[in-house]
Amino acid sequence: MPEGDTVFRAARLLDRSLSGQVLTATDFRVPQLATSDLSGGTVTATVSRGKHLLTRIERDDEAWTLHTHLKMEGAWRVHRPGERWKRPVHQARVVLTTARAVAVGFQLGIVELLPRDQEESAVGHLGPDLLGPDWDEAEALRRLLEDPARPVGEALLDQTALAGIGNMYQAELCFTSGVHPRTPVGQVPDLTRLVRRAKQMLELNKERATQSTTGNLREPLWVYRRDDRPCRRCGTTVLVAMVGPAGRERASYWCPSCQPESSQG
Ligand SMILES: [Zn+2]
Repeated sequence: MPEGDTVFRAARLLDRSLSGQVLTATDFRVPQLATSDLSGGTVTATVSRGKHLLTRIERDDEAWTLHTHLKMEGAWRVHRPGERWKRPVHQARVVLTTARAVAVGFQLGIVELLPRDQEESAVGHLGPDLLGPDWDEAEALRRLLEDPARPVGEALLDQTALAGIGNMYQAELCFTSGVHPRTPVGQVPDLTRLVRRAKQMLELNKERATQSTTGNLREPLWVYRRDDRPCRRCGTTVLVAMVGPAGRERASYWCPSCQPESSQG
């Protein structure tokens, strides 16, 4: 599951590769857009909002937004014209071609074309974006604490509270804050500090090819996907369990010594 910083990097790649250029061809390989064609349009920008990507395209008097989401396995890749694609052709969902670049969205979870003035219908539900110009720490805290009994691990993944945290940062933030992921969010000792750390982690990693929360690129993560291995801080075996509401459980990782459940108070 891509995190907000991964999506930010994808948006920056598309923005640098396509903005200001005329689309010589477009190919939407999803049933609902099979007949859509924006060739002749000019790409004006790509921005990220949380884990959503908005690519803005103008043609004549029309202003469109291509809304995409990477979901679990998705990725945008940019190729030179004629270059072999970096993923299998059958995984392509969108192909945007200009004279200089061929941008391909592979295995995208969402592909929709919206009139620009309906952008908010795609991203209006999101909470403050950790990497966005609209970042608002107080508002994110307020939304996180709306349901103080909710486990912190679950609350951090709620994109309507704050946008950009996925499973990896959720686990790493609980570890670095010393809280068990099932701790009620209202009982996290210093939630402000945790949220600031979240922003700091994403800001640092949006500039890096390899994500790290430890500061050590050889041992980049504290607990995420390190179950059955020793905690980097104390040596206790890291555990994993499914946490979250029925039907939307996610794997949660924690060190039982550094993040005792009794810290729930
Ligand atoms: Zn530990």
